[in-house]
Amino acid sequence: MNEAGGRPVPLRWRVGDVTITSISESDTPTSPRFLYRGVSKADVLARADAAGWLRPHFVTEEGFLRQRIHCCIIEAGPHRIAVDTCVGNDKQRSHPLWHQQQGPFLDDLADAGFPPETVTHVVCTHLHVDHVGWNTRLVDGEWAPTFPNAHYLFCRAEFDHWSQTEDLFGDDVFGDSVQPIVDAGLARMVAADHRICDEVSFWSTPGHTPGHVSVLIASRGKRAVITGDMVHSPLQLADPELSSMFDTDPEEARATRHRVFPDWADGETLLIGTHFGAPTGGIMERDGDAYRLRFDAVGSDRQRPG
Ligand SMILES: [Zn+2]
Repeated sequence: MNEAGGRPVPLRWRVGDVTITSISESDTPTSPRFLYRGVSKADVLARADAAGWLRPHFVTEEGFLRQRIHCCIIEAGPHRIAVDTCVGNDKQRSHPLWHQQQGPFLDDLADAGFPPETVTHVVCTHLHVDHVGWNTRLVDGEWAPTFPNAHYLFCRAEFDHWSQTEDLFGDDVFGDSVQPIVDAGLARMVAADHRICDEVSFWSTPGHTPGHVSVLIASRGKRAVITGDMVHSPLQLADPELSSMFDTDPEEARATRHRVFPDWADGETLLIGTHFGAPTGGIMERDGDAYRLRFDAVGSDRQRPG
């Protein structure tokens, strides 16, 4: 993959009049056991043999999953909408890779043309640790909003759940990355079918968490979906029955995939996976009883910045 100064080059897609730019915080080969109960690396390799499109982008030769944590900036008319704000820097976290991280994410964001003060909206598909981190940054020992001119949109059901429920790893994610936004007066509580503007709206996809949403982008007859964590890796396109260990309600998560995948797999919709390794986005289509991504048609709509 192309890199600039050791950093991944942002991915960029065009959907009608809308541009989506993906800024990576981390790209990490991940053991399947971290995500899926009872799925070994050998199982992953067998699944990749049966669904050849998974290799080489999403599965390594050793059977690790190529996973990514990134933020999408949607440019739609006057709006700059940041979808999912990754893990963030300086946070006290139980996960060793995420504890007091010191990454160049904000520099990468600015270098791609998006200084934080130019962002108009922040969307968190859900309030897990790797989706809210850059909501805030440490300023003089206090957690301050990273995007001071943005409305931060929180789904009411999601906010209510995590304001009363301990984080997955027992960390104070709500306290350091959500509550300061409320205290600063930047939070907006919205419904799970909220529409931000003509081109960008939420698609309710509960199960991974109670108020989880995906983000639909539609412009000039073109369509894209940013998944959030209703699907964690492309393995779940090849096997929609497979639920993640981190799903609050695995049965509801499964039902959600079976409900929305047939709609999205129209052979034209660009699916951008919130944790899919690069190239991260592909055209979703049916593959027998399951689904797959196709990358050939993405080329004309996919641009590199600069
Ligand atoms: Zn996640």
